[in-house]
Amino acid sequence: MPRVSEVCEVLERRFPPVLAAQWDHVGLQVGNRMAEVTDVVAALDVDAEAVETAKRHGAQLLVTHHPLVFEPLASVLTDDPRGRLLAEVLAAGISVFACHTNLDAAPSGLAQRLGEKLGLSALQPVRDGSWPRLYKLAVFVPVSHAEQVRESLCSVGVGTIGKYTDTTFSSPGIGTFRPGPGARPFEGKLGELARVDEVRLESILPSYKLAEALAAVRGTHPYEEIAYDVYELAQPRHAVSAARVGRLPAPLDADALAALVSERLGVECVRLVDGGSRQLERIMVVPGSGGNFVELAVQTEADALVTGDLKYHEACRARDLGLTVIDAGHHGTERGAVELLAETIQEASAARGWGLQVVAAVNQSPFRTWPTVG
Ligand SMILES: [Zn+2]
Repeated sequence: MPRVSEVCEVLERRFPPVLAAQWDHVGLQVGNRMAEVTDVVAALDVDAEAVETAKRHGAQLLVTHHPLVFEPLASVLTDDPRGRLLAEVLAAGISVFACHTNLDAAPSGLAQRLGEKLGLSALQPVRDGSWPRLYKLAVFVPVSHAEQVRESLCSVGVGTIGKYTDTTFSSPGIGTFRPGPGARPFEGKLGELARVDEVRLESILPSYKLAEALAAVRGTHPYEEIAYDVYELAQPRHAVSAARVGRLPAPLDADALAALVSERLGVECVRLVDGGSRQLERIMVVPGSGGNFVELAVQTEADALVTGDLKYHEACRARDLGLTVIDAGHHGTERGAVELLAETIQEASAARGWGLQVVAAVNQSPFRTWPTVG
């Protein structure tokens, strides 16, 4: 019987937390890492319905796309619906785990799944600015201090690749410098060329960790002026984005694309912004709230964008730019998350002989259409 932490690890391997947007809160949010698991419920949201389902199935783990704890909590009040849910899961011994923007962005994640559901081929991630880029940091350190600089970097999370931490590479070499007037060199004399045995210490980090990493280097490096390089990396697996662009088997007009989206996603109605083109073939998809991807879709030369939560002014902008948008709703474009989470756990359970019972529970959308369609 696996523990909560082992089931979470399976999810983190497929949907690495490092792919989450910087503002996001993902991972195990409530519960007990050591608790044993026999039953898991996967859902879109931690709402009353999902908690009720988890309780009914005697589940010890509730895995969702949307985090239960998102804004920093100033209080937990049980007369408020969110506080009540928190108290309820704690009392029932249910751990709550969120795979949010990391699920959207992962190579076999939700955006990819949305594109596949629409029958798009040659799906490619489209990089947007909100995901962390990956940097390589190389620091030149005298051999005597290489280990302490390495430790300080790793202590702030530099060198994390998947399940591995503390990944670095060191190569020896000779550093030279000539201290000028007023310098206070760690080694060498003013005006004289110094040759020092140094190490080029390198590792990777997400862009938002750079300031912290440089502060760690300054705290442990003995030199007055520290030589270092920062490179932006271009590894495909780090071209992280919740957007994918792909090709329909044959061009469609806006109405036919709307019909396809409605049918494939099982949503009874969609909203349509007609960009005016009758030949829509290159389609961008963004699960959830993708209204802010209108400009990126145009830059990427997509003919249409399929997403949810489009705002009025975003719709006007899309129309003016000649971009067709199908808004299939936040719920409509993200409900695939539930099967994705459930499948991942089921596959791992089968492969490891865990015998977990996994229930996929799609929460009701808070919206319904009026008049009722169909
Ligand atoms: Zn969402």
